[in-house]
Amino acid sequence: AKSAGRNTHKFYSDTMRIHSLHRLDIENELREAMNTKQFQLYYQPKVDLKSWSVVGVEALIRWKHPERGWISPSEFIPIAEESGLIVPIGTWVLKEACRQIKAWRNTALRDLRVSVNISSEQIYTDDLLLTVKDAMASNTIGAESLELEITESLLMRDVDSTVQTLNEFKELGLAISIDDFGTGYSSLSYLTRFPIDTLKIDQSFVRDLHIDNDDAAICAAILAMARKLNLNVVAEGVEIDEQLQFLRGHGCNQIQGYLFSKPLPPAELLALIGDNVRK
Ligand code: C2E
Ligand code: CA
Ligand code: CA
Ligand code: CA
Repeated sequence: AKSAGRNTHKFYSDTMRIHSLHRLDIENELREAMNTKQFQLYYQPKVDLKSWSVVGVEALIRWKHPERGWISPSEFIPIAEESGLIVPIGTWVLKEACRQIKAWRNTALRDLRVSVNISSEQIYTDDLLLTVKDAMASNTIGAESLELEITESLLMRDVDSTVQTLNEFKELGLAISIDDFGTGYSSLSYLTRFPIDTLKIDQSFVRDLHIDNDDAAICAAILAMARKLNLNVVAEGVEIDEQLQFLRGHGCNQIQGYLFSKPLPPAELLALIGDNVRK
Protein backbone atom coordinates (compact mmCIF):
# COMPACT_ATOMS: atom_id res chain seq x y z
CA ALA A 1 0.00 0.00 0.00
CA LYS A 2 2.91 2.25 0.83
CA SER A 3 4.66 1.98 -2.56
CA ALA A 4 1.36 2.22 -4.44
CA GLY A 5 0.77 5.47 -2.56
CA ARG A 6 4.15 6.70 -3.64
CA ASN A 7 3.45 6.00 -7.32
CA THR A 8 -0.01 7.48 -7.46
CA HIS A 9 0.76 10.73 -5.64
CA LYS A 10 3.48 12.35 -7.68
CA PHE A 11 3.80 15.51 -5.67
CA TYR A 12 4.63 15.71 -2.04
CA SER A 13 4.17 18.93 -0.18
CA ASP A 14 7.32 20.10 1.59
CA THR A 15 6.03 19.05 4.96
CA MET A 16 5.17 15.60 3.67
CA ARG A 17 8.62 15.23 2.18
CA ILE A 18 10.27 16.23 5.43
CA HIS A 19 7.95 13.89 7.29
CA SER A 20 8.80 10.94 5.03
CA LEU A 21 12.54 11.60 5.17
CA HIS A 22 12.31 11.66 8.92
CA ARG A 23 10.47 8.35 8.85
CA LEU A 24 13.11 6.69 6.68
CA ASP A 25 15.76 8.06 9.00
CA ILE A 26 14.05 6.56 11.98
CA GLU A 27 13.56 3.25 10.17
CA ASN A 28 17.29 2.98 9.50
CA GLU A 29 18.07 4.07 13.01
CA LEU A 30 15.68 1.44 14.38
CA ARG A 31 17.56 -1.27 12.51
CA GLU A 32 20.82 0.07 13.88
CA ALA A 33 19.31 0.22 17.38
CA MET A 34 18.39 -3.48 17.17
CA ASN A 35 21.92 -4.40 16.14
CA THR A 36 23.72 -2.29 18.71
CA LYS A 37 21.48 -2.94 21.72
CA GLN A 38 20.10 0.57 22.19
CA PHE A 39 16.78 -0.68 23.58
CA GLN A 40 15.96 -1.34 27.22
CA LEU A 41 12.84 -2.33 29.11
CA TYR A 42 11.50 -0.27 31.98
CA TYR A 43 8.85 -1.65 34.30
CA GLN A 44 5.86 0.16 35.79
CA PRO A 45 4.14 -1.31 38.87
CA LYS A 46 0.45 -2.25 38.98
CA VAL A 47 -0.86 -1.83 42.51
CA ASP A 48 -3.72 -3.81 44.03
CA LEU A 49 -6.21 -1.42 45.63
CA LYS A 50 -7.25 -3.75 48.47
CA SER A 51 -3.79 -4.67 49.73
CA TRP A 52 -1.83 -1.72 48.28
CA SER A 53 0.82 -4.17 47.14
CA VAL A 54 2.42 -4.55 43.74
CA VAL A 55 0.91 -7.47 41.85
CA GLY A 56 2.52 -6.98 38.48
CA VAL A 57 4.51 -4.71 36.21
CA GLU A 58 4.12 -3.56 32.63
CA ALA A 59 7.24 -3.78 30.46
CA LEU A 60 7.70 -0.58 28.43
CA ILE A 61 10.39 -0.21 25.80
CA ARG A 62 12.91 2.60 26.01
CA TRP A 63 15.25 3.77 23.26
CA LYS A 64 18.39 5.70 24.07
CA HIS A 65 19.85 6.95 20.82
CA PRO A 66 23.63 7.68 20.97
CA GLU A 67 23.18 11.21 19.57
CA ARG A 68 19.49 12.10 19.85
CA GLY A 69 19.08 10.81 23.40
CA TRP A 70 15.79 9.31 24.56
CA ILE A 71 13.18 8.78 21.86
CA SER A 72 9.64 8.16 23.05
CA PRO A 73 7.86 4.91 22.11
CA SER A 74 4.86 6.93 20.96
CA GLU A 75 7.20 8.38 18.33
CA PHE A 76 8.96 5.23 17.13
CA ILE A 77 6.48 2.38 17.75
CA PRO A 78 4.08 3.58 15.01
CA ILE A 79 7.00 3.73 12.55
CA ALA A 80 8.19 0.30 13.66
CA GLU A 81 4.64 -1.00 13.07
CA GLU A 82 4.36 0.48 9.57
CA SER A 83 7.78 -0.77 8.50
CA GLY A 84 7.30 -4.26 9.94
CA LEU A 85 10.27 -3.76 12.27
CA ILE A 86 7.90 -4.17 15.20
CA VAL A 87 8.09 -7.93 14.63
CA PRO A 88 11.81 -8.34 15.46
CA ILE A 89 11.57 -5.56 18.07
CA GLY A 90 8.56 -7.28 19.65
CA THR A 91 10.45 -10.57 19.71
CA TRP A 92 13.32 -8.82 21.48
CA VAL A 93 10.85 -7.39 24.03
CA LEU A 94 9.40 -10.83 24.77
CA LYS A 95 12.83 -12.42 25.14
CA GLU A 96 14.15 -9.61 27.30
CA ALA A 97 11.06 -9.68 29.56
CA CYS A 98 11.47 -13.45 30.04
CA ARG A 99 15.19 -13.04 30.70
CA GLN A 100 14.31 -10.44 33.36
CA ILE A 101 11.66 -12.68 34.94
CA LYS A 102 14.31 -15.36 35.25
CA ALA A 103 16.82 -12.91 36.74
CA TRP A 104 14.21 -11.86 39.35
CA ARG A 105 13.76 -15.44 40.47
CA ASN A 106 16.28 -15.04 43.29
CA THR A 107 14.87 -11.72 44.48
CA ALA A 108 11.74 -10.41 46.19
CA LEU A 109 10.31 -9.78 42.73
CA ARG A 110 10.02 -13.50 41.94
CA ASP A 111 6.21 -13.58 41.93
CA LEU A 112 5.62 -10.53 39.79
CA ARG A 113 3.58 -11.02 36.68
CA VAL A 114 5.09 -9.10 33.77
CA SER A 115 2.84 -7.81 31.03
CA VAL A 116 4.15 -7.21 27.54
CA ASN A 117 2.55 -5.01 24.87
CA ILE A 118 1.76 -6.89 21.69
CA SER A 119 1.26 -4.94 18.48
CA SER A 120 -1.33 -6.03 15.94
CA GLU A 121 1.42 -6.56 13.35
CA GLN A 122 2.89 -9.20 15.62
CA ILE A 123 -0.37 -11.09 15.93
CA TYR A 124 -1.15 -11.00 12.23
CA THR A 125 2.25 -11.52 10.59
CA ASP A 126 4.50 -13.34 12.99
CA ASP A 127 4.25 -16.80 14.44
CA LEU A 128 3.70 -15.17 17.79
CA LEU A 129 2.71 -18.31 19.66
CA LEU A 130 6.01 -19.95 18.80
CA THR A 131 7.99 -16.83 19.73
CA VAL A 132 6.28 -16.67 23.12
CA LYS A 133 6.72 -20.40 23.82
CA ASP A 134 10.35 -20.15 22.84
CA ALA A 135 11.07 -17.13 25.05
CA MET A 136 9.37 -18.89 27.98
CA ALA A 137 11.08 -22.24 27.44
CA SER A 138 14.61 -20.92 27.04
CA ASN A 139 14.26 -19.08 30.37
CA THR A 140 12.16 -21.80 32.06
CA ILE A 141 9.36 -19.30 32.73
CA GLY A 142 5.93 -20.47 33.86
CA ALA A 143 2.83 -19.07 32.16
CA GLU A 144 1.73 -17.45 35.44
CA SER A 145 4.63 -14.98 35.08
CA LEU A 146 3.51 -13.53 31.77
CA GLU A 147 0.62 -11.44 30.53
CA LEU A 148 -0.08 -10.02 27.08
CA GLU A 149 -1.56 -6.55 26.56
CA ILE A 150 -3.51 -6.24 23.35
CA THR A 151 -5.14 -3.02 22.23
CA GLU A 152 -8.87 -2.89 21.82
CA SER A 153 -8.67 -1.87 18.16
CA LEU A 154 -6.66 -4.99 17.35
CA LEU A 155 -9.47 -7.26 18.49
CA MET A 156 -11.84 -5.97 15.89
CA ARG A 157 -9.58 -6.33 12.88
CA ASP A 158 -10.30 -10.00 12.32
CA VAL A 159 -12.49 -11.25 15.13
CA ASP A 160 -12.47 -14.97 14.32
CA SER A 161 -8.75 -15.34 13.88
CA THR A 162 -8.01 -13.16 16.91
CA VAL A 163 -10.33 -15.28 19.08
CA GLN A 164 -8.47 -18.35 17.89
CA THR A 165 -5.01 -16.89 18.55
CA LEU A 166 -6.00 -15.64 21.99
CA ASN A 167 -7.49 -19.03 22.86
CA GLU A 168 -4.13 -20.62 22.08
CA PHE A 169 -2.45 -18.23 24.54
CA LYS A 170 -5.10 -18.99 27.16
CA GLU A 171 -4.45 -22.70 26.75
CA LEU A 172 -0.79 -22.02 27.47
CA GLY A 173 -1.97 -20.36 30.69
CA LEU A 174 -1.10 -16.75 29.90
CA ALA A 175 -3.23 -13.86 31.13
CA ILE A 176 -4.59 -11.44 28.54
CA SER A 177 -5.61 -7.83 29.02
CA ILE A 178 -7.27 -5.35 26.75
CA ASP A 179 -5.21 -2.17 26.58
CA ASP A 180 -6.58 1.36 26.03
CA PHE A 181 -10.09 0.10 26.73
CA GLY A 182 -12.79 2.56 25.75
CA THR A 183 -10.96 4.04 22.77
CA GLY A 184 -11.28 1.30 20.17
CA TYR A 185 -14.96 1.32 19.17
CA SER A 186 -15.30 -2.39 19.77
CA SER A 187 -18.74 -3.82 19.96
CA LEU A 188 -19.40 -4.66 23.59
CA SER A 189 -21.11 -7.88 22.57
CA TYR A 190 -17.75 -9.18 21.34
CA LEU A 191 -16.20 -8.71 24.75
CA THR A 192 -17.52 -12.04 25.95
CA ARG A 193 -16.17 -13.86 22.90
CA PHE A 194 -12.56 -13.01 23.67
CA PRO A 195 -10.82 -15.03 26.39
CA ILE A 196 -9.70 -11.99 28.39
CA ASP A 197 -8.91 -11.49 32.06
CA THR A 198 -8.47 -7.76 32.42
CA LEU A 199 -9.61 -4.42 31.01
CA LYS A 200 -7.22 -1.50 31.23
CA ILE A 201 -9.19 1.75 31.29
CA ASP A 202 -7.45 4.15 28.93
CA GLN A 203 -5.71 7.04 30.62
CA SER A 204 -7.67 9.58 28.57
CA PHE A 205 -10.73 8.71 30.73
CA VAL A 206 -8.77 8.76 33.98
CA ARG A 207 -6.96 12.06 33.48
CA ASP A 208 -9.91 14.37 34.25
CA LEU A 209 -12.02 11.86 36.11
CA HIS A 210 -12.14 14.05 39.23
CA ILE A 211 -13.30 17.20 37.37
CA ASP A 212 -15.24 15.91 34.36
CA ASN A 213 -18.62 14.26 34.92
CA ASP A 214 -18.61 12.52 31.54
CA ASP A 215 -15.24 10.87 32.15
CA ALA A 216 -16.36 9.86 35.64
CA ALA A 217 -19.52 8.31 34.15
CA ILE A 218 -17.51 6.35 31.57
CA CYS A 219 -15.13 4.98 34.20
CA ALA A 220 -18.01 4.05 36.49
CA ALA A 221 -19.81 2.31 33.62
CA ILE A 222 -16.71 0.32 32.60
CA LEU A 223 -16.18 -0.75 36.21
CA ALA A 224 -19.82 -1.81 36.66
CA MET A 225 -19.79 -3.77 33.42
CA ALA A 226 -16.47 -5.45 34.22
CA ARG A 227 -17.75 -6.56 37.60
CA LYS A 228 -20.77 -8.23 36.00
CA LEU A 229 -18.58 -9.90 33.38
CA ASN A 230 -16.10 -10.98 36.06
CA LEU A 231 -13.21 -9.07 34.54
CA ASN A 232 -10.35 -7.52 36.44
CA VAL A 233 -9.88 -3.77 35.87
CA VAL A 234 -6.65 -1.76 35.86
CA ALA A 235 -6.91 2.03 35.62
CA GLU A 236 -4.02 3.60 33.70
CA GLY A 237 -2.46 7.00 34.24
CA VAL A 238 -3.54 7.50 37.85
CA GLU A 239 -1.66 10.54 39.09
CA ILE A 240 -3.59 11.98 42.03
CA ASP A 241 -5.39 10.84 45.13
CA GLU A 242 -8.86 12.04 44.00
CA GLN A 243 -8.68 9.72 40.99
CA LEU A 244 -7.63 6.88 43.25
CA GLN A 245 -10.50 7.46 45.68
CA PHE A 246 -13.08 7.50 42.89
CA LEU A 247 -11.69 4.32 41.32
CA ARG A 248 -11.54 2.54 44.66
CA GLY A 249 -15.10 3.59 45.45
CA HIS A 250 -16.28 2.07 42.16
CA GLY A 251 -14.56 -1.27 42.71
CA CYS A 252 -11.47 -0.88 40.54
CA ASN A 253 -8.99 -3.71 41.23
CA GLN A 254 -5.64 -2.18 40.36
CA ILE A 255 -4.05 1.11 39.36
CA GLN A 256 -0.99 1.95 37.33
CA GLY A 257 0.34 5.50 37.23
CA TYR A 258 2.70 8.14 38.49
CA LEU A 259 0.79 8.30 41.80
CA PHE A 260 2.55 5.08 42.77
CA SER A 261 5.50 5.05 40.37
CA LYS A 262 6.62 5.92 36.87
CA PRO A 263 8.21 3.14 34.77
CA LEU A 264 11.62 2.23 36.23
CA PRO A 265 14.74 0.34 35.18
CA PRO A 266 15.04 -3.05 36.97
CA ALA A 267 17.48 -1.96 39.71
CA GLU A 268 15.28 0.99 40.71
CA LEU A 269 12.18 -1.18 40.65
CA LEU A 270 13.79 -3.63 43.05
CA ALA A 271 14.85 -0.78 45.35
CA LEU A 272 11.34 0.70 45.33
CA ILE A 273 9.14 -2.35 45.70
CA GLY A 274 11.38 -5.11 47.01
CA ASP A 275 9.51 -4.80 50.33
CA ASN A 276 6.04 -4.28 48.91
CA VAL A 277 5.32 -7.20 46.62
CA ARG A 278 2.39 -9.51 47.21
CA LYS A 279 3.86 -12.63 48.77
P1 C2E B 1 0.54 2.07 26.82
O1 C2E B 1 0.68 0.61 26.59
O2 C2E B 1 -0.84 2.60 27.01
O3 C2E B 1 1.45 2.39 28.08
C1 C2E B 1 1.14 3.32 29.08
C2 C2E B 1 1.87 4.63 28.85
O4 C2E B 1 1.43 5.58 29.82
C3 C2E B 1 3.38 4.53 29.02
O5 C2E B 1 3.96 5.46 28.11
C4 C2E B 1 3.57 5.03 30.46
O6 C2E B 1 4.87 5.52 30.72
C5 C2E B 1 2.54 6.12 30.52
N1 C2E B 1 2.09 6.41 31.87
C6 C2E B 1 2.04 5.56 32.93
N2 C2E B 1 1.54 6.17 34.01
C7 C2E B 1 1.24 7.43 33.66
C8 C2E B 1 0.68 8.58 34.37
O7 C2E B 1 0.35 8.51 35.54
N3 C2E B 1 0.52 9.72 33.64
C9 C2E B 1 0.86 9.81 32.33
N4 C2E B 1 0.68 10.98 31.71
N5 C2E B 1 1.40 8.77 31.64
C10 C2E B 1 1.58 7.59 32.30
P2 C2E B 1 5.23 5.06 27.23
O8 C2E B 1 6.15 4.17 28.02
O9 C2E B 1 5.76 6.32 26.68
O10 C2E B 1 4.61 4.17 26.08
C11 C2E B 1 3.71 4.72 25.14
C12 C2E B 1 3.06 3.65 24.31
O11 C2E B 1 4.04 3.01 23.48
C13 C2E B 1 2.46 2.51 25.13
O12 C2E B 1 1.19 2.90 25.61
C14 C2E B 1 2.39 1.41 24.09
O13 C2E B 1 1.28 1.59 23.26
C15 C2E B 1 3.66 1.67 23.29
N6 C2E B 1 4.72 0.76 23.78
C16 C2E B 1 5.60 0.92 24.79
N7 C2E B 1 6.40 -0.15 24.91
C17 C2E B 1 6.02 -1.03 23.94
C18 C2E B 1 6.47 -2.34 23.54
O14 C2E B 1 7.38 -2.95 24.13
N8 C2E B 1 5.82 -2.92 22.48
C19 C2E B 1 4.78 -2.29 21.83
N9 C2E B 1 4.19 -2.91 20.80
N10 C2E B 1 4.34 -1.07 22.19
C20 C2E B 1 4.95 -0.45 23.23
CA1 CA C 1 0.02 -1.23 27.59
CA1 CA D 1 -2.73 1.69 27.64
CA1 CA E 1 -1.84 3.93 24.77
